[in-house]
Amino acid sequence: MSAAPARERPSKMRVYNTYTRLLEEFKPITPGKVRMYNCGPTVYNYATIGNFRAYIFADVLRRSLEYFGNEVTQIVNITDVGHMTSDADEGEDKMSKAAREQKKDPWQIAEFYMNAFFDDIKTLNIQPAQKYPRATEHVAEMIAIVAKLIENGHAYVTNGNVYYDVSSFPGYGRLSGNTLEQLNAGARIEVNPEKRNPQDFALWKQDPKHIMQWDSPWGRGFPGWHIECSAMSSKYLGDQFDIHTGGEDNIFPHHECEIAQSEGATGKKPWVRYWMHTRFLLVNGQKMSKSLGNFFTLRDLVEKGCDPMAVRYVLMSTHYRQPLNFTLESVEGARESIRRLTDFRRRLNDASAPADCAALPEILRKGKEGFDAALAEDLNTSAALAALFDLVREVNKLALSRADAARVLALLQAFDHVMGVLGEVKEEGLAAEVEALIQERLESRKRRDFKRADEIRQQLKARGIVLEDFAGGTRWKRE
Ligand SMILES: [Zn+2]
Repeated sequence: MSAAPARERPSKMRVYNTYTRLLEEFKPITPGKVRMYNCGPTVYNYATIGNFRAYIFADVLRRSLEYFGNEVTQIVNITDVGHMTSDADEGEDKMSKAAREQKKDPWQIAEFYMNAFFDDIKTLNIQPAQKYPRATEHVAEMIAIVAKLIENGHAYVTNGNVYYDVSSFPGYGRLSGNTLEQLNAGARIEVNPEKRNPQDFALWKQDPKHIMQWDSPWGRGFPGWHIECSAMSSKYLGDQFDIHTGGEDNIFPHHECEIAQSEGATGKKPWVRYWMHTRFLLVNGQKMSKSLGNFFTLRDLVEKGCDPMAVRYVLMSTHYRQPLNFTLESVEGARESIRRLTDFRRRLNDASAPADCAALPEILRKGKEGFDAALAEDLNTSAALAALFDLVREVNKLALSRADAARVLALLQAFDHVMGVLGEVKEEGLAAEVEALIQERLESRKRRDFKRADEIRQQLKARGIVLEDFAGGTRWKRE
């Protein structure tokens, strides 16, 4: 059975919009079709589990939208130039820094860590986005937006650098709450004499030392980080789209600047309907840092023996707007939860009650209602999982027929379309189990326990597997 339900009438969801600070009913611009952009990795190093919290949230959000009957176009960018160590204009380009430290060129660094990222998301069973545009392949689109911003009076050129004039955009600060008044009062930023306002940010920069450079109307240089997301999202999703996600550390300055750029260039508001951000992740109660020894990439955890599906479970089972404290014990607990679900699924195979159970339909209805209601309420994954485990407990009390078991299994598979932790029922697992039963049957017959031997044949038959005895042994096939 296919996991995604029919697509005619998508169910309603409510989501928390960082922009309005409200829980809002989710209404895509085109009913049933959702366009979503997720800020992706800067490929100068392996992504950390903090980064993966945001990517798994985006994955579960996409899966939930599909579960509720929407078609989703998902774009995740790859930043391979222009992201400075400060997240703003200051510091060194993260790509150049990594290249210098690892004695490679930035293109090699980008290629290597981009492929590592793709490997990692596969390991975490994150569904592939429709496209992963790379910043370095979209410089022409960025230049076009910068030119438009200059034309519209939102940007200016000084010494081959182009800056966004934040005082030209009244909405600046609306997303993050960092209004110009507040920022100027704080005045932490050193005044760059090239800038008209201290908060102006670079759209295009000149630096003869930077290895990655492109020609532009303002001289050779490279793009700022923020302009990349404005350019790549509009190229693939249009001038206005439904959802933009990121970690809460992206809200300012990154997303604030993206809004100023995109709305400044097109004049269309709102650029994005719903802004959704994951909260931070701690490890053992503290911020991840190499010096504390609590800095984990996915690879570090796999090396320590963590099951990637358990890591996924930990990252998705806490509501995305709650801080998450990641510990190795929590991975163990998650592994146990997954084991309970896979054991439950395996037991469904043994169902053999002669008649359907009258209580089951109501239990399934309630279970689905609880799971759906939790997901629909701002993606409350922890409540959805609680509903699932309630269902497991209730079903475990029943004697199920084969048809009952198939109904439960179909619902479990539909839920797993959202969770992504159980995977398909593995054929190898089945084969091993059948072979073990054949062996047991053979031994039963040797000790003349024909009753048990016959039981095994019946049990397998009930599961659609028939045994054929021949001179040298027994083989099995599906009915
Ligand atoms: Zn971005």
